[in-house]
Order: sequence, then C-alpha cells, then structure tokens
Amino acid sequence: MSPSKVSSISWDSFHNTVDGQPRNSKSKHRGVNPATGEELWEVPIGTQQDIDDAVKAAQKAFETWSETPLEKRKETLTKFRDHYMTFADELIDLMCQETGKPRQFAEFEVKGASMFFDHHLNLNIPEERDEDDEKVMLTRYTPLGVVGAICPWNFPIILSLGKVIPALLTGNTIIVKPSPYTPYTTLKIVEIAQEILAPGILQAVGGDDKLGPMLTTHPGIAKISFTGSIATGKKVMAAAASTLKRVTLELGGNDASIVLPDVDIKKIAPELVMGAFQNSGQVCVATKRIYIHEDIYDEMLKEMVEFTKSIKTGDPSSGALLGPIQNKMQYEKVKTFFEDSKSQGYKFAVGEPEVSKSKGFFVQPTIIDNPPNDSRIIQEEPFGPIVPTQPWSDEEEVIKRANNTNAGLGACVWGKDIERAERIGKRLQAGSVFVNSWEKPTPQAFFGGHKESGIGGEWGKEGLKAYCNAHVLHTYKSK
Ligand code: NAD
Repeated sequence: MSPSKVSSISWDSFHNTVDGQPRNSKSKHRGVNPATGEELWEVPIGTQQDIDDAVKAAQKAFETWSETPLEKRKETLTKFRDHYMTFADELIDLMCQETGKPRQFAEFEVKGASMFFDHHLNLNIPEERDEDDEKVMLTRYTPLGVVGAICPWNFPIILSLGKVIPALLTGNTIIVKPSPYTPYTTLKIVEIAQEILAPGILQAVGGDDKLGPMLTTHPGIAKISFTGSIATGKKVMAAAASTLKRVTLELGGNDASIVLPDVDIKKIAPELVMGAFQNSGQVCVATKRIYIHEDIYDEMLKEMVEFTKSIKTGDPSSGALLGPIQNKMQYEKVKTFFEDSKSQGYKFAVGEPEVSKSKGFFVQPTIIDNPPNDSRIIQEEPFGPIVPTQPWSDEEEVIKRANNTNAGLGACVWGKDIERAERIGKRLQAGSVFVNSWEKPTPQAFFGGHKESGIGGEWGKEGLKAYCNAHVLHTYKSK
C-alpha cells in the first residue's frame, strides 16, 4: 500500500499485532487518562502463546528482511515514516489522553519521532577494513535476529520508535512491548506500520508486567533493548543471562546541574527550572539535583521560585506548561518525597507539602532548599516535579558531590566561562553532559548511562552497532 490516508485504522479499538494480524485476548486491561482519572479503552493482555507466535513470525520475517539490501530497507522505512506522519493529528490526540501531556508537548513527541527516522535513514552500517602484508581483515556489522523492545511510559512514542528504527534499519525484526500504563499510541503505530511492512517485521504485544520476563527468557529472542528503572533493568539483565542475550539497558538517572558564579541569573533561572520540571519531572535525564555557587545562591533561588510560581499545571488542552503524573503508582511514589521532605523539616522554597487532591494526578512543581546530602530527595530519583538545590564553593568538592551517586545518566554545567564549564563537565560521571543547556538528548548523539544508569546505549552513529554482531572476515593473500 502506498503511503496515503487510505487506511482501515480505527481510533476507538486497540489490539496487539502478531504476524501482521490483529491479536486479541480473553483478558483485557485499561489505561487511565491521568488528567481526569477516567478509564480509557480496553487493550488485550498478551500471553505466552502470543509471544511464542510473535517470535516465530519474527524469525521467519528475519530470513527475508535481513537479506533485503540496506537501500531497500531504507525505502521501506521512509514509506513507514511518511505513512506514520499522515496520522500525526490522531496520534497527538491519543497521546494527550494516554499521558495527559500538554498538547504542545504531545505534538513535539509525535512529530519529533520523524527526526529519529531522518537521522537513521541518513546512516550507513559501518564497515572497517584493515590490512597487513599477509591478510585483509574486514569487519562488518550484521543483524542479531529478533529484538525484544521493552518500553516505559514517560515518552511512549520516542522511546519505542527510538528502538524500532535502528533495529529495522540494521536488518533485525522486532517485537515491542509497551508499558501497561501507555499502550495506546504504540499499538496504533505498529498497526499503522502493517500497511507498509511485511508480516512479522514489526509486532507489538502489550499486556501486564508478566510479559517482560516472557521476552527476556525467550530462547528465540537475540537481544533485549530495555528502557525503564534501575531495579527492573537488573532483573532484565539477570533473566537475559540464561540465554546469553545481548542487552541494552537505558535506566534511571539522578542528574546533577552545577551552576558557576558567572551566569546571567535572570536568563538561566527559568532554564534550570525547566530542566528539572520538563514533562513534570518524568524524564530519565531531568535535572534531579541543582548545585548553585554560594555567591549567587540566594538570588538564583529567588528567581527560580518566581519562575516556578508562574508555571501553570493542567490538562492537555488548558495551555498549561506541565501535565499530571502519568499514573497512580508513580503519583503515590512522588508523594512519598513530599511527605519525607515535610517530616524531615526541609524548607519548601516553592510548592506545598500537601500534593493536590484533584481527580487527575497533578503535582505542583516544588523546590526543596538545601536539604542534607543523605536526604532521600538528594539520593533517589523522584521522577516527578520536585527538585533540591544546594550551595557550593569549592570546585573539587562539588564535582565529588555530583558524582556521589550510583546513577550516571546525564548532567549539566552552566557558566559563561565555557572552558571552566567544560573542564568540570568532563569530570562528571555521566553518559551525556550538557554545557549551558538542560538535558536534551538528540538522535544525532549516542545516549547511554554510566554506572547503574545502564549498559550500552543507542542512537548517534555508534548506536547502530547495538543491534549488530561484529562479523570479521580474515582473508589471507595468496602466496
Ligand atoms: P519500569 O522499570 O517499571 O518498567 C519499564 C518496562 O519494563 C515496562 O514496560 C514494564 O512493563 C516492564 N517490566 C516490568 N517488570 C519487568 C520484568 N521483570 N522484566 C522485564 N520487563 C519488565 O520503568 P517505568 O516506571 O516504566 O519507567 C520509569 C523509569 O524509567 C525511571 O527510572 C526512568 O529514569 C527510566 N527511564 C530511563 C530512560 C533512559 O533512556 N535511560 C528513559 C525513560 C525512562
């Protein structure tokens, strides 16, 4: 089918996709619109049989897809991108309902996914040639087989297509498991893709948390690309060991932001705040600790408080800057950081210890002024709109404080003295360090965590190798 709007996609029913066909299930569950607390559509809970069938179909499709020339695969993925984009408006509406995101951010995610297509469509699979007097060594990168993609709920489209596109480009086939909290956009995109791709190349099986282990232990799956929490990441790695699957683990973070004394306070204060509160703090690389030089601490905090007070929180169509927490489980978890900060007597520079009692899962953005180093709010990732600030005076000491965490995903340094900011940035133990910007991962750059924030990484040029085996051909020259 050519990329056009002529399609049979319906927007009020959802199903898994196995071997090119809709797959339903006796058991169903429903997501919840976090802005209203209302239940959304039924979705099937996939079973072991669904996973077994999907793996079989993916293995079969791999035989042809992996042998399809790269240029041809790119042509097909280009058609998929164009077809996907014709549904942008419907997907934005759907994303607003499943995530509660303000409409402009849902739009940014839906349309931003085309950047992920475009970046990958411009890449070639690397090939390296080395030679000595005796032989030629050719290193090629070949597809692994069937990939299982296990996804979180905070960016359901970017974080699933961010796996699907490089996996397919490199000749793998892929089964996507969306988060039980946000199944809708992913199931629909995979359904849309069936109008372009042959059966078995891209499949989706959603359901409950039992499905993840079915993928991580399945002998027919060659690789798991997982994005989620550190705790689940450890389970994924342990389970994958039984079949020696390749794993990429994109896990949680506890990003530090270090502010030098020479910054333009009025200009930087809103940026620091948005780094922490983007997507209501539900970002793996949101700023989670802010270290401000003591010379400007009070003034910077005052500006940050003023800006935070101006932020509107509300439902997707309200024009608000921040939406709700995506689900009840996370809402309850975020509340514990408020309760802990209140019971320990920490100072709320802005925000209230009592989280709102509205129907949706709304939390007002909150700054905790100078809690101790061993506080929960410094040590752990809240994954919600609450952030601590602390003053610093000694460069060596603040670098140690920033690195004093099991996480190592992102970090920021802010300063007019770029040389100093970069010098500090190079010593921060994190996969992605941003100088004079809050954390903005991009498909052009490799993204992965240090320490417990992950194993391996994706995107950029190097990211393609995450979906490949190195295959070295040693050809001896004739004697
Ligand atoms: P989560 O770990 O609870 O769930 C992630 C996925 O794993 C879901 O699809 C879930 O169903 C599945 N799962 C649950 N148990 C499993 C098991 N035993 N085996 C396999 N899969 C299983 O994470 P979440 O709450 O969805 O996401 C929030 C977390 O993800 C935060 O810690 C955040 O920092 C992190 N995150 C990291 C990145 C990154 O790129 N590094 C991006 C987004 C989110």
